[in-house]
Amino acid sequence: MLSTMQDGALSISRILAQGSGPHGTAEVRTWTGDGVRREDYARTGRRVAQLAHALRGLGVTGDQRVATFMWNNAEHLEAYFAVPAMGAVLHTLNIRLFPEQIVYIADHAEDRVVVVDATLLPLFGKILPQLRTVRHVIVVGEGTLEPPTGVEVHAYEDLLAGQPEEFPWPSVDERSAAAMCYTSGTTGNPKGVVYSHRSIYLHSMQVCMTDGMRLSQADTALAVVPMFHAMSWGLPYAAFMVGASLVMPDRFLQPEPLVNMIATERPTFAAAVPTIWQGVLQHLDAAPQDISSLQEVVVGGSACPPALMRTFQERYGIPILHAWGMTETSPLGTVARPPAGATGEQLWAYRASQGRLPAGVEGRLIGDGEAVLPWDGESVGELEVRGPWIAASYYRDDDPEKFHDGWLRTGDVGHISPEGFLRLTDRAKDVIKSGGEWISSVDLENHVMAHPAVAEAVVIGVPDEKWDERPLVAVVLREGHQATADELRDFLAERVAKWQLPEHWTFVAETPKTSVGKFDKKRLRQQHSEGHLN
Ligand code: ADP
Repeated sequence: MLSTMQDGALSISRILAQGSGPHGTAEVRTWTGDGVRREDYARTGRRVAQLAHALRGLGVTGDQRVATFMWNNAEHLEAYFAVPAMGAVLHTLNIRLFPEQIVYIADHAEDRVVVVDATLLPLFGKILPQLRTVRHVIVVGEGTLEPPTGVEVHAYEDLLAGQPEEFPWPSVDERSAAAMCYTSGTTGNPKGVVYSHRSIYLHSMQVCMTDGMRLSQADTALAVVPMFHAMSWGLPYAAFMVGASLVMPDRFLQPEPLVNMIATERPTFAAAVPTIWQGVLQHLDAAPQDISSLQEVVVGGSACPPALMRTFQERYGIPILHAWGMTETSPLGTVARPPAGATGEQLWAYRASQGRLPAGVEGRLIGDGEAVLPWDGESVGELEVRGPWIAASYYRDDDPEKFHDGWLRTGDVGHISPEGFLRLTDRAKDVIKSGGEWISSVDLENHVMAHPAVAEAVVIGVPDEKWDERPLVAVVLREGHQATADELRDFLAERVAKWQLPEHWTFVAETPKTSVGKFDKKRLRQQHSEGHLN
């Protein structure tokens, strides 16, 4: 029996209508270096329509790909809406990848148009001649470049000027492609994840759920997480859905401007990877400022060190909300909101976990021989997930390893408690296999980072004749602090089993980071194998 309910596509144009209509007074504020430029969502809506007309004028039809090569700013937000709402496909290019990866990705996606921030032209100009499918480049801001044959360059504002401020948004099949994003690809080529209108819509609702990220109309959200990374953790679309304002840092991502943004724009909410917050804390130590507007900070992308959470809470009264996800999961997979009534150390244990799978994301743990393991808080296996905002395949790229009977294999290893709290112990490829036992690199890092002299600690497994692998710790000390390897080892000895204690320690000025600011263990392993880490 069919239901008696109406059917309406869950589409990006619906989210746009909500944001630019009832929530038209909410704002996107883009940091300029010493202040912000403001645009209310009603105006964003008008400019989105103008951009869609301009793109049609350049011949964008059907599901052609329009890429962005941009920082987080108002124009990037306009592209986020105009491209999918007109039925085309938004492709957010990661500006921090190696040029040959960007060329591969743009070619693979067959990007036809690229919207580029003028400040990124020196970088983009070097790549452009190698892009085979690009026909138009639209430059945001002051600047231009010499186009190769067959490519036209346009100024963003010139293209928008005089265009109608309304657009007849087409009805779309909610399962059709809205946007795409490539994972950085730790092995082989980057893989494309293609989000649908429906998956984005449902994911945005999850971002606004009270026990999820809890974004609401009362919020002003500082979106530090790049818009080229995993759709900026859902913030841009969710903000339009509920009318939360957005503060966009543009290219000013260092601790000092970030703290200035918080002190002056007074966001209530912010989202970024742990290394960003570590930098912010260090900066605040040296130059205190008022960050009390923040009511909650979401940290994810890699495991949040408990020491970071405690410092934020105890020194600034700001709770950190730990979340887990992947490009393939839109990205929100779990959120660590403790159950009502949890207190003391139990509360901290919930907060340090990766959190609960929400309605919409099913999870299971797979052990040796593909056995499905129980949720008993002890059995450790690889997490697999499925649901309406989880990828079912990659774009034109088979990767049978990643997909298993309709589930996504996450490559993350951990256990789940009977009440559904996920605790990841490691990425499968980062677990240290020592004498037949597993050592969690994340566990060791978290303990070392609890030492007051340590700013960052990254642990990798290095080859060992007797044990197969042993842990190596790369430490960055806090400015003005001292600690020796013996002191840190003694500190760790009180916290982990003796056989896990690392014998290799190295002190470095900075640790390698990935294109989205996570510890880059692959590069660290390479540095070690080339003898640079002794
Ligand atoms: P990349 O592989 O480039 O880092 P993603 O951003 O998609 O691409 O990263 C997803 C991975 O990040 C997850 O599979 C997991 O290993 C890690 N991750 C994300 N959030 C967390 C978290 N809260 N705790 C531990 N690991 C996390």
